[in-house]
Amino acid sequence: MDPIPCLGCSIFFKPRNILQSYCSAPFCQRARKALWQRQKLANDPEYAQGQQLSNNKWLANNPNYWKGYRSRNPEKAARNCVLQQIRNRAKAPSDKGLDTPRHVGIAKMDARKPLVNGLLGEFWLVPKIAKMDAVKIFIAAIPGDPG
Ligand SMILES: [Zn+2]
Repeated sequence: MDPIPCLGCSIFFKPRNILQSYCSAPFCQRARKALWQRQKLANDPEYAQGQQLSNNKWLANNPNYWKGYRSRNPEKAARNCVLQQIRNRAKAPSDKGLDTPRHVGIAKMDARKPLVNGLLGEFWLVPKIAKMDAVKIFIAAIPGDPG
């Protein structure tokens, strides 16, 4: 057969048969298997249920896996935290003022409240390095601002 470009790496290779569209490189085989599983999960409810049961069983046998993963990968945990906040905001039905619970579904629903409430009022901004005089500032909440 004539060489064709691999769907994973775009490098030309000689397929063994007409159905082969990925080369044998491990990266491309992983991509092929991942694509197959995504399609199988989307189209086969029994397979998806079996995978979910298998995942739950594995997680029950490895209860500290995600805690350990987050402590081993703090940058990924921080990234996921930010992305989760964006997902929560996207899921929020509408903006009905400052007291609207925007973090439904996440453990620390009122985590930002003490910070925002604690920063309202008059403060002195005192420079520690730059040579300038202290400045009195006033921090107020803007109605309708999600914070
Ligand atoms: Zn390839």
